[in-house]
Amino acid sequence: MERVSLLGIPHDENSSYLRGAAEAPPLIRRELFSDAYSVWSETGIDLGGRFKDCGDVQFDDGDPWETIAESVLRATESGDPLLALGGDHAVTHPIMRAVRRRHPQLTILHFDAHPDIYDAYQGNPRSHASPFARIMEEGLTERLIQVGLRAFNDHHRAQFKRFGVEVIEMGRCNGPLGIEITTPVYITLDLDGLDPAYAPGVSHREPGGLSPRQVIDWIHQIDQQIVGADIVEYNPRCDLSNVTATVAAKLAKEIAGMMIRTGTR
Ligand code: MN
Ligand code: MN
Repeated sequence: MERVSLLGIPHDENSSYLRGAAEAPPLIRRELFSDAYSVWSETGIDLGGRFKDCGDVQFDDGDPWETIAESVLRATESGDPLLALGGDHAVTHPIMRAVRRRHPQLTILHFDAHPDIYDAYQGNPRSHASPFARIMEEGLTERLIQVGLRAFNDHHRAQFKRFGVEVIEMGRCNGPLGIEITTPVYITLDLDGLDPAYAPGVSHREPGGLSPRQVIDWIHQIDQQIVGADIVEYNPRCDLSNVTATVAAKLAKEIAGMMIRTGTR
């Protein structure tokens, strides 16, 4: 039985504005495993017993980027797909270093209000505003497709060009995504890509965003193997009655269901 490796990454030291994302993993887990909700994905996968919970990354005195990459490698030793619960978006860089070791062909499908591709932000090349600059420089994916963007500037536009990023900005997010993916997929889901009406528990609310339904429908349309995913930037300190944790858990279930479905074709 194929399973999904669940790994919490409680790290928010590269957040530019507010701390709090490090507190997210246990709160998303609580919703994910709550008896209040069905354990079936909408796509007909019974997720009961399908999660192999690898716990949270334990940080010591070493370089946190190495600690995260090593933890991801351990969590995916079995060959099971990875579902990481962040943390801020900076953690996607070390995650991808590990995922890349097992997958020579990849497309990253990135949902976000922001492109997170600053060369550096506030002088920090590891900022949560910069992971995709590092990922592209290190050649950790063949394609980067960014969906839902609605806060970017001319520096970002220059970076899109430099790295060949495919951008589907928020104003074009109507109907199907309209992109053909031909490699295994890694999904990185920044919860601020959603409209703050659905997901207020984020550090950078950007109104005019995606609905959970749109994101779920696009995830259901993926016809390549989904080999990994992260759900990041949940900030419980900004949430209202845990609604954002519930949304994160729902998206985690639909992603996990598709991982199992696309992995056992
Ligand atoms: Mn964002
Ligand atoms: Mn982001």
